[in-house]
Order: sequence, then C-alpha cells, then structure tokens
Amino acid sequence: MPIWNPRIETMPRVDLEQLQLERLQATVNRIWESVPFYRRRFEKLGLMPEHIRSLDDLRLLPFTVKEDLRTGYPYDLFAVPLREVVRIHASSGTTGPPTVGGYTKNDLRHWRELAARVLSAGGVTKDDVIQISFSYGLLTDAFGFHQGAEEIGASVIPVSAGAPEQQIGIMQDFRTTALVGTPSYALRMAETLGDKAVPRSSLHLRWGILGSAPWPESVRKRIEDLLGICATDNYSISEVMGPGVSGECAEQKSGLHINEDHLLCEIVDPGSGEVLPAGESGELVITTLTKEAFPIIRYRTGDLTSLSLEPCPCGRTLARMARVFNRTDDIVIVGGVKMSPSQIEDVICQMEGVEPHYRVIVDRAGGVDTVEVQVEVSAALLTGDVRHLLSTQNLLRERLEAALGLTPEVKLVEAATLDTDEPRCKRIVDRRRTEGGGLQERE
Ligand SMILES: [Zn+2]
Repeated sequence: MPIWNPRIETMPRVDLEQLQLERLQATVNRIWESVPFYRRRFEKLGLMPEHIRSLDDLRLLPFTVKEDLRTGYPYDLFAVPLREVVRIHASSGTTGPPTVGGYTKNDLRHWRELAARVLSAGGVTKDDVIQISFSYGLLTDAFGFHQGAEEIGASVIPVSAGAPEQQIGIMQDFRTTALVGTPSYALRMAETLGDKAVPRSSLHLRWGILGSAPWPESVRKRIEDLLGICATDNYSISEVMGPGVSGECAEQKSGLHINEDHLLCEIVDPGSGEVLPAGESGELVITTLTKEAFPIIRYRTGDLTSLSLEPCPCGRTLARMARVFNRTDDIVIVGGVKMSPSQIEDVICQMEGVEPHYRVIVDRAGGVDTVEVQVEVSAALLTGDVRHLLSTQNLLRERLEAALGLTPEVKLVEAATLDTDEPRCKRIVDRRRTEGGGLQERE
C-alpha cells in the first residue's frame, strides 16, 4: 500500500529527532517573541528559549490546558496578526466558551498534507470516491479530511451529516469507495442497510476512515463485516489541528502512526504530570512544531494512550499511539468505584440483540449516587416476546454489575434514539457535577 510521504514517514528516527529539535527551538523562539501568554509563563519559570537544547528539555516547558485556551478566547494565544490568518475553527462550546484555532496559509498546507497521510495509510488513493459524512461547520473534522482527500486527488463528496438512508442513496448513485465519519455513524449506516434490505453488492465501498470517538475492536469487526470494508481508526483534536494527528495503517491496524515531524507527543502521568517512558499508559500531551497562527506547547489532551517506537511492518518509522478508549475526565467515581466508558462498552458489545449505542446517566438521589445505562436494542427485541426482553435486561444488568462492581439501572431503548453519532459525543453524563457541584460537563 502506498505511503503518501515516504521521505518523512520512513525517515530514520535519529534524523526525525534532529528535525523535531530544530522545529521545537524555532517554535519556542516564536512564541517567546509573539505570544505574551507564553512569555509570562516562561518568565515565571526563569526559562529562556536558549534553555531548550535537546528534546529532553521539552519537559522544562509548562503545560497548556483547555482552560488557558478559554481564558484566551478568542485570539489571545495566536502568534500572528489576524490579517495573516486565513481560516478559523472552533470547538462547539456547548458548556463554556469554545476553544478557537486559527490557521495561516502555511498551516493549511501542512494540515492538508497530514490529513492526506492519514487517508493514504487507511487505503485511500486518487482513484477513490470519498464521502465525507462529518458535519461541515466550525468543527475541524469535515474540512480537515476534505482538504486531505483533495490533496490526494480523490473525488470528494461533501455530503455532511444527515439521514443514513440519504447517505446510502448517494453511496449507491455516486459509487462511493471510501467513507469518512464517526464509527457510530458508520455502524448506523451498516444497520440501515440491513433494515432496508439494501444488498451489499449495490455498494462499491472499500475503505472506512473512522474516528473522533472511541470504538472497540468488536465494533470495528461489525462495521467491516456489514459494510464489507477495511476500517481504520484515526485521532484528531481540534485544539491542536484536527484530523491529521495520527491514523492506523490498513496493513497492520495496530496503533496510530503519529505525524511526528509536525507534532511532538509525550505521555505523562495524569496526576503528577511526570513524563512516562514509551510503552506506559498515561495522558497524551502534544506540542505543535510548525503551526504559525496558533502554536501550542505541551497541550494536555485528556486522552489516555501509550506510545510505541517500534518500526511498523508497513515501513513507517513514525511512532504509534495506542487507540484511545478513555479520557481522564471520562472516568467517573460512583460510590467510591471508578467507572469508564470502555468497561461498559465491552459488556454491551458482547450482548446479543443489543446495539453498541449507549449512554450512561450518573446522578444523585437522597445523597446516594445512581447509575442508569441506556442502551439501544433492535426493533425485533423491543416488539417481540416480553420475557425475552426482560431476560436481556436482567442479563445486561448482571454483567454490568460484575464488570463495574456496582448495580446500575438498565433501560433498553429503541434503535437510533440515542444521539451518539456526533464527534466526541459524551457517553457518560454526570448530572452530579452540573447541579451545584460547580464543575462543568466536558464537551
Ligand atoms: Zn504501520
């Protein structure tokens, strides 16, 4: 399978690290000169740009957190005047000020290149017809992949999000070969094919480039089987750049290759902030190496993963990050017990007749924490034998109890009623935090 930029993607690591160091020093110099927010932070630590002499010196630099971006809303952390910014994106900002990212012409050029690498790694070539089913708007997903696909020379269909039936119609008519979107949405489409008895042979799909939400291997297998495609995972974060950060290669699907020539990644202990060695799990921290408009230093992503520096059999030497299943702020403590979305997902994915679309509501009643797991089930199960429905509900409760160490309420709901197809949708809604606790929900 072709590699989009073999010179960089297969570069010996010693050369890559030299390139990273030069770019890190340039970035640190630039923010020292142009971003008062960073200048103040550096001065407080007695730090000067010339103190960064090796990649290890990265740990001398302060972290940047989401709150910093919100405080600097909208443009305080930009390193260039607005007249040099040619594109502005932002997070949805449903629970607080959005975080805003700006791009210069050069930034857009780099972003296109990195998105092209991720698409190529997932199998896309100029011969593909690619359907982008992310919403076009302030979020980065749709535009990022759109530009990357055009860079490759694929034929882009900017269909945006919408009813699965409409997407399938376009897929058939336009002979789509690659689907870009969230895994949840791809699964929704695959299920719609079955419901509407659309033959798989009426589609030309080969590739699924899916991301922006955690999805377990069992869901990957289901999407691949139902749609007859090769589905790869990719990672994006709008505060850093959007899609193009990292993606799996279709050959191996074992870790996401990080575009390390533009992004320097570390794993830190989420509690102490201490840097952890390769192979250990912790919070992903990213430093941009080439961004002109909105460079960001040691950004705490909140995503939990690990890094591998082993060369991949696909030929790429770029480090790989493990797939992200949990975020530091997704792990909630209920009655003294830690609970994460991936634990719940593992149980749900192994249940017959139950869809991997779910939401968890954590609340407090009479001083006691409560957990309700809402899960979509097939229409056949909901309208069929009541005893079967009840036994499914009981079995699910028992299995969740065994996995979590607490007893949840289980509510079975009709398919396609939980709104879980959005990028970065919230699986665990913690109502204890919003009522009086003063903490905000995560976007
Ligand atoms: Zn690989």
